[in-house]
Amino acid sequence: MPMEHSPKREYPVERVIGRGFDDEDYEIARNFFRERFENQDFVKDIERAKTEEEEEIILWVNNETNALLEHYGVRPLDIPSRNVHIISKERWPKQPGFEDSAALYSFDTQAIFYCDKPQRPLFAHRVFHEQLHIKFHQAAQYVEEGGTKKFEEYRSGLSLSSAKREDFVSQFRKLNEAVIETLAIRFWEEKIAKSERFRKEIEALARVKQVLRGERTTIEENEGVSEEEAEQIIEEICAVTDGENGLKLECFSYPCERAALSHLVSTLYERNKATVQDPGQIFDLFVKSAMTGHMVELAKLIDRTFGTGTFKRLGVISSEKHTKEELLAFVKNMRSEKRNEV
Ligand SMILES: [Zn+2]
Repeated sequence: MPMEHSPKREYPVERVIGRGFDDEDYEIARNFFRERFENQDFVKDIERAKTEEEEEIILWVNNETNALLEHYGVRPLDIPSRNVHIISKERWPKQPGFEDSAALYSFDTQAIFYCDKPQRPLFAHRVFHEQLHIKFHQAAQYVEEGGTKKFEEYRSGLSLSSAKREDFVSQFRKLNEAVIETLAIRFWEEKIAKSERFRKEIEALARVKQVLRGERTTIEENEGVSEEEAEQIIEEICAVTDGENGLKLECFSYPCERAALSHLVSTLYERNKATVQDPGQIFDLFVKSAMTGHMVELAKLIDRTFGTGTFKRLGVISSEKHTKEELLAFVKNMRSEKRNEV
């Protein structure tokens, strides 16, 4: 039986599992992860110093993400600005993980990396997203493999990677991103867009969207999308930046994954109306599960609604082994499957 410990939350990785892990081993692991969280000097060579305003924004976002945790009854955790690293586009690492990302967090170092852009609302939004990754439940696993002993990511929000399951493929990863980005968009709508600090940038963005709405047919043709989809793209623009070939429209992330989550939430609601007040209650269950790492209630709800084994299949289909389109199709199918049965 693997041993589990739940100490007070002083740093992000609060749980370590491992075969035959005793208290002494646990203390070593604890110090290891605390050190990782605190020592952020390893990026010094490539990051740039943060401005006073960026420091303020990071602090504000830290308080806002803590308020969100407390809203869900989860203990807050401070992420100091030293864990946020701003790196210029030229110095942005050209390795997998970084290449296609504008911001990311690393489980190994508990660091947030942000690809430098002057737009402050975008910075606030992306730091919010990455901070949630760190503030959501995280657990590590101790593994011995071919003579090497190491710690690997075990849980990160809803994501689960283990040697026993699909050889460390991170299950539920896409749904975890969907939960986080949905919350980050809410933060945008409720706080960033209404903040005096960002007023000018938000107003400029509104003007850009207005112009684009006038040219919606061009977007429809260029992107090969419907009128509704074009409107959705315009709606989700959060910044206009300098791209390789002229201006680049920056949109909220993970639209397909969010669509899948949204389908799942509304289907679960439709099928459990007798006991569930509104879809928000289902969404809250996803959030709480990701924050606490307690998946039992969510797993039971999904299996009860769609049949035993569905939760497990959902985990696999939302791993990096499958595409986001496959996830969306799977979730939509769950609906029709049930409809046919009724
Ligand atoms: Zn993310």
